[in-house]
Amino acid sequence: MMKTMDCLFCKIAAGNISSEKIYETQDAMAFLDINPISKGHAVVIPKKHSQHLTQLNQDELGLLFDAVKQVSLMIEKGLNPDGFNIGVNQGKTAGQAIPHLHVHVIPRYLGDGGGSLHSIISNPPDESIEETARRLR
Ligand SMILES: [Zn+2]
Repeated sequence: MMKTMDCLFCKIAAGNISSEKIYETQDAMAFLDINPISKGHAVVIPKKHSQHLTQLNQDELGLLFDAVKQVSLMIEKGLNPDGFNIGVNQGKTAGQAIPHLHVHVIPRYLGDGGGSLHSIISNPPDESIEETARRLR
């Protein structure tokens, strides 16, 4: 695993690199994405270094997603968007550019030309969903 001292988001969480911080608690913080894909595009991070969502325990997940909720409410109040895409790119293949877990909060505006999460990929499985479900149970 990457050393936290080399991690951009750990440096931002520690205040060693400046950011457009909009929200902070003891465990999480949120700042505006440096390359926003919509007005108000924010990222919410746990302050403790972790690469993947699956590495957080229940309490840590709860604190992170409470921050996601609060940030979404702030954006609703400040920018009045018509909706949100809220998501995590987990792993390089999925487009995770910074190996520190971050939840994108992307405000959506009527007529903005964007799609849903379903527009990220079109790679249908070569087996039935019943077969896939059997593998997972
Ligand atoms: Zn980190």
